[in-house]
Amino acid sequence: LFITFEGPEGAGKTTVIQMIAERLKKINIEVLATREPGGIEIAEKIRTIILNPAHTAMDERTEALLYAAARSQHYFEKVRPALDAGKLVICDRFIDSSLAYQGYARGIGVNEVLSINEFAIGKKLPDVTILFDLAPEVGLARIHATGNREVNRLDVESLPFHQKVREGYLQLVEQYPERIRVVNADQDIKNVVEDVWLLLLEAMQ
Ligand code: C5P
Ligand code: MG
Repeated sequence: LFITFEGPEGAGKTTVIQMIAERLKKINIEVLATREPGGIEIAEKIRTIILNPAHTAMDERTEALLYAAARSQHYFEKVRPALDAGKLVICDRFIDSSLAYQGYARGIGVNEVLSINEFAIGKKLPDVTILFDLAPEVGLARIHATGNREVNRLDVESLPFHQKVREGYLQLVEQYPERIRVVNADQDIKNVVEDVWLLLLEAMQ
């Protein structure tokens, strides 16, 4: 079963994934928790290129292609083998990030970004995607409050950009109502974990 977590900056995806993975291990479910862009050496290197704050000249098509390149390598090197071995794979971001950020917010076009991703990984989409929805102001405030986060090229983006990302995600929910489940990420992390846990149990039925 392939589950992806999506949502904006500061939504709590990474923290919730760690907590959920521990719970799954306790009940003896074999789980691989990984992330994008990254998860394996080549893709982590691509990540540092994409997110380097000095790379202000990066064209949005270059960005979309680098995300797709990182995804392809990560998918075939790590995700696919784990799925084939019968593991539950949880991935922090996947194709919907590209559709929302590059396709919608940066304006390349959702279908254009979908097609380069089909080249990168084929037509298979995640079985279930959990979207952490919250107002961008709330997510950005959380990031500033904790401050324990790598500097990244997206830090200079304005609020309207992040609002577009949210709109992009919500549009994807309409496009893929069966696959994408929305969780209210603007609540105590414990409650978010409980909501995600219930969705996960449902997905594992
Ligand atoms: O999930 P994480 O916070 O580690 O993502 C790293 C950065 O990459 C974030 O700022 C995120 O908004 C950005 N990103 C992006 N386009 C994607 C995936 C991630 O701009 N397709
Ligand atoms: Mg994160």
